[in-house]
Amino acid sequence: MALKVYNSLTRRKEEFRPLHEGRVGMYVCGPTVYSDVHLGNIRTFVSFDVIYRYLLHLGYKVRYVRNITDVGHLEGDADTDAEDKISKRARLEQLEPMEIVQRYMNGFHEMMHRFNNLDPNIEPRATGHIIEQIQMVQDILDNGYAYVVNGSVYFDTKKFQDEKGVYGQLSGRNLEELMQESRDNLKNQQEKRHPADFAIWIKAAPEHLMRWPSPWSVGFPGWHLECSTMSTKYLGHTFDIHGGGNDLKFPHHENEIAQNIGACGQAPAKYWLHANMLLMNGKKMSKSDGNTITARQLFTGDSPHISKPYSAMVIRYFMLMAHYRSTLDISDRALQAAEKGYQKMMNYLRLLDEMQPAQFAAEATPAGEAIRRLIRETHEGMDDDFNTAVAIAKMHELGSYINKLHARQLDFSQITAETWDELKTLFRAFIGDVFGLRSEQEQADRDEQALETLMDIILQLRQKARAQKDWETSDKIRDALAKINIRIKDSKDGSTWERIA
Ligand code: AMP
Ligand code: ZN
Repeated sequence: MALKVYNSLTRRKEEFRPLHEGRVGMYVCGPTVYSDVHLGNIRTFVSFDVIYRYLLHLGYKVRYVRNITDVGHLEGDADTDAEDKISKRARLEQLEPMEIVQRYMNGFHEMMHRFNNLDPNIEPRATGHIIEQIQMVQDILDNGYAYVVNGSVYFDTKKFQDEKGVYGQLSGRNLEELMQESRDNLKNQQEKRHPADFAIWIKAAPEHLMRWPSPWSVGFPGWHLECSTMSTKYLGHTFDIHGGGNDLKFPHHENEIAQNIGACGQAPAKYWLHANMLLMNGKKMSKSDGNTITARQLFTGDSPHISKPYSAMVIRYFMLMAHYRSTLDISDRALQAAEKGYQKMMNYLRLLDEMQPAQFAAEATPAGEAIRRLIRETHEGMDDDFNTAVAIAKMHELGSYINKLHARQLDFSQITAETWDELKTLFRAFIGDVFGLRSEQEQADRDEQALETLMDIILQLRQKARAQKDWETSDKIRDALAKINIRIKDSKDGSTWERIA
């Protein structure tokens, strides 16, 4: 079966045919780095990580571009008369905007690695592409789809719609209704010709921290512009996949499409993929009513919503238990179930590696055929719009065969060598490469080894200090280690260490 993807633009599942054989260009909207990345964001990035991984698994050469929004995203997703999210944070903390960006970008990367997301091939930043954004504004102006008022540039949505007729296609919005809605909602619309127009270059107010010279004013780009510009720069006018969370369909992606067509006459992406939202206890996660939890709280267990800590791999597995287009409801019960499922899954892999069958069936058997059917269905699940939920369910069915083989309830003489190889290949490739799940035991073993090496060095240094009667240093080391629950025992033969429970 060939890979099918659900295209939000056509609202259909379509066979995936890349523009250039064997290669895929994929752009995913990255985070706005003005605060800690939240679990909802993480879910979206995990979803696209699995999509990226599966495309690689199928043998595509993928260029994966995921941006960092470090300017232009205004409070409340407005497009004028609101403060830039990063500028605001910088003002409140009395820091440079780039200090805010650096802090939260570092935190974002750390979190992505903790969840074992692969790095994108290119991670462009909006502030690094101001020249290209100014050029795109100019192109849109030259083509007559934008106008300048008091140093700001607005996209002429009505003219664009009258001539191209595609505005609203992605989000299913109707321009007439949008005009009415915007008219009702926004007070400060006087610079716009039509209420649904949006800013592509914004003249900076005197207090605005981030600003660049342009032909129209000293100002900054509109939020949607960066993705139009950077996807074009790194993936070409039209590329294969554009992704992001559901909430970005409108206005962000709708406006991105309008800008690209307005600038060069071509729509940016062939397939638009949108990941669904993360809920908690059945409701939208929201800071204001306390219905929220951070990744760190999940790791430490320090939240009234959960009964114990959960590891990044358990949370990742939990996210993969649902299809990326379904909402996902996080709860303590669901996480407990995920923990069991994750442990079972990693155990199947261990058993597969451990077992050393001596003899196989010479030809097909009913048990072998059942296994092969499940292997096929696992692949079909992923081919059906990356349905990890189906793939995982099928792998658990296969897992019960693995357990039976291990317990000798099913004999290897009942399956062929080929089936056995297929089974091992599937689990090795899917668990590690496609799902991006790693064994936490392996990680723990590596940490333990690192600790032992470090403790050897520390004890040698302390021994040296003691030999020189430098009691101050030697006591300092002992006390510092005691604080992290490591006890040093000195004897005449030297020192040893142990953990205090
Ligand atoms: P932002 O940092 O707000 O620009 O968002 C980064 C990405 O996370 C975007 O693709 C959003 O659509 C996505 N996102 C935001 N909130 C959620 C949520 N609750 N669940 C899933 N994805 C989300
Ligand atoms: Zn974007």
